Amino acid sequence: MSVLVLGGAGYIGSHMVKQLLADGQEVVVVDNLVKGHRAAVDSRAKFYEVDLRDKAALSAVFEQEQIEAVVHFAAFSIVPESVAEPLKYFDNNTAGMVTLLEVMNEHDVKQIVFSSTAATYGNPVHIPIKETDPQNPINPYGESKLMMEKMMAWADQAYGIKWVALRYFNVAGAIEDGSIGEDHEPETHLVPIILQAAAGKRPYIEMFGDDYQTPDGFNVRDYVHVMDLTAAHLLALNYLKEGHDSAAFNLGSATGFSVKEMVAAAREATGVDIQAKVGPRRAGDPDILVADSTAAREVLGWQPQFDNVADIIKTAWHWVEMHPNGYED
Ligand code: UDP
Repeated sequence: MSVLVLGGAGYIGSHMVKQLLADGQEVVVVDNLVKGHRAAVDSRAKFYEVDLRDKAALSAVFEQEQIEAVVHFAAFSIVPESVAEPLKYFDNNTAGMVTLLEVMNEHDVKQIVFSSTAATYGNPVHIPIKETDPQNPINPYGESKLMMEKMMAWADQAYGIKWVALRYFNVAGAIEDGSIGEDHEPETHLVPIILQAAAGKRPYIEMFGDDYQTPDGFNVRDYVHVMDLTAAHLLALNYLKEGHDSAAFNLGSATGFSVKEMVAAAREATGVDIQAKVGPRRAGDPDILVADSTAAREVLGWQPQFDNVADIIKTAWHWVEMHPNGYED
């Protein structure tokens, strides 16, 4: 039996594939390679270049392979793009989930671990954010993922498809051997952008806003290492295998770091005097987003190994040093 990783050629999905292989599991990857990189997929995994909205092609994979559970990372995830092109997000993310759940049900596959997001909460009413807090997304990306969570809940009631939704905060870092890492085009995320500045690919990092309601004025986020994140997915698969009920869990470190603190941590991790300038705020950025991930720790037994952002950044830097042009090398 295999685990199907949808979006297994992407940043987090490709780390999930490594995590499953290290656990001795058989892995099948489906990715349309719109954002993913073929070279990111470990050669021990079976690969299908399929768009999950293509029901016939996705069904063919389920017929060919003995799939026992699905881990779903195949979604668009850039907030400003979702505001400009909402229908792209409702098509690829939300409508894609309809096809996936239909195909799973038709092939009697009843377990799914889903990559959800802190963006489903919108502006937080408490810090740290708990799973039971209201979900009122403020952009189409968060809305598309909240709709996907709700679809799974109804599919559970109707067809008995059991799910775990893992709501991520900020993900960073790379597998420690540096074989795979983060490579987006265009790059919008803080850690890879800081490291582009460290590598001399851009003259400086622009820090978006210094007038937030935080101790140093820079906005605060909760950064989790990608291998800690994928380890939580493995625990979620086991949780479903043991027959537990569907559930949602936050995945965060519970410690917030400001943009300025992240730049300082990156200077420490790389040894480079990274240049930073203050720019205007980016639209839609809340002051602080920090997770309460007590439930993931208590129920799933999740124990993140990286509890220090400089160590997280060191692994991302190792990937950058080994692959200065990302997957183009
Ligand atoms: N950020 C920044 N400069 C950049 C990119 C990001 O100051 O070039 C800030 C951004 O305002 C946010 C944090 O870094 O506070 C994390 O942003 P990212 O886009 O990585 O993740 P998000 O929190 O939007 O999911």
